[in-house]
Amino acid sequence: MSSPCQACGACCAYSADWPRFSTEDDAEIALIPAAYVDDPAGRMRCDGDRCSALAGEVGRAVSCRVYAVRPEVCRTCEPGDPECEMARRRYGLPPL
Ligand code: SF4
Ligand code: SF4
Repeated sequence: MSSPCQACGACCAYSADWPRFSTEDDAEIALIPAAYVDDPAGRMRCDGDRCSALAGEVGRAVSCRVYAVRPEVCRTCEPGDPECEMARRRYGLPPL
């Protein structure tokens, strides 16, 4: 079964404040290709509200270009949790 996230991506395009680094150490952040990292801001580089590592079209088909090394906050986000539903609402996607 595929994850609902593969046809969503709303939480990756909700706010530049969301993909922030937290528990990562420098070595872990160094694994993420530099083009996707906003070092001074301590987070992923974003274009507006959208994480630069998000590929595809929100609500249709998306993927994370840095999935294997994505930040901790991206790993803890669960489909159906309150932040997920908030992000999905913004994009007119139905609740899970
Ligand atoms: S908003 Fe929810 S369903 Fe969509 S990608 Fe994020 S966790 Fe997955
Ligand atoms: S790093 Fe990947 S999972 Fe995290 S916000 Fe960006 S696109 Fe989404």
